[in-house]
Amino acid sequence: MPFDDFIPLGLYVFFLFWIGCIGSVVGSFLNVLAYRIPRGMNIAFPASHCPKCGAKIRPWHNIPVLGWMILRGKCKDCHEPISPMYPIIEALTGFFWLIASMLAFPLTNNNFTLWTLYSLGAGIVLSVFWGFFLVWINKKS
Ligand SMILES: [Zn+2]
Repeated sequence: MPFDDFIPLGLYVFFLFWIGCIGSVVGSFLNVLAYRIPRGMNIAFPASHCPKCGAKIRPWHNIPVLGWMILRGKCKDCHEPISPMYPIIEALTGFFWLIASMLAFPLTNNNFTLWTLYSLGAGIVLSVFWGFFLVWINKKS
């Protein structure tokens, strides 16, 4: 295995999987920002709810990407469609984190802690720019 001198391939894949998950959770938060900031809403309150009927989003429906799939893109309460942009942004953000982490890997010289820090740092920096872009594009439309 090409990674055995470095870290085991299994750990590499496992780590990237979790980085992707963290990225998608961040993406979910960016969706909230992109929706609420242009509308002048508070970013923390109220909790996630359907913009059409106001029903609270159940925690398991708030899971990035999967929640939308479980709901088949429709609000559980009013059955109004939920934009596919939500899971797309979540998946894309997860993907960006994954790519950033893979790019950081060669820089870390066999140091798992350093790789973790590089990965999280790169993901956060990317997400700030990505978040600004999403807010900006929502303001325009
Ligand atoms: Zn609804």
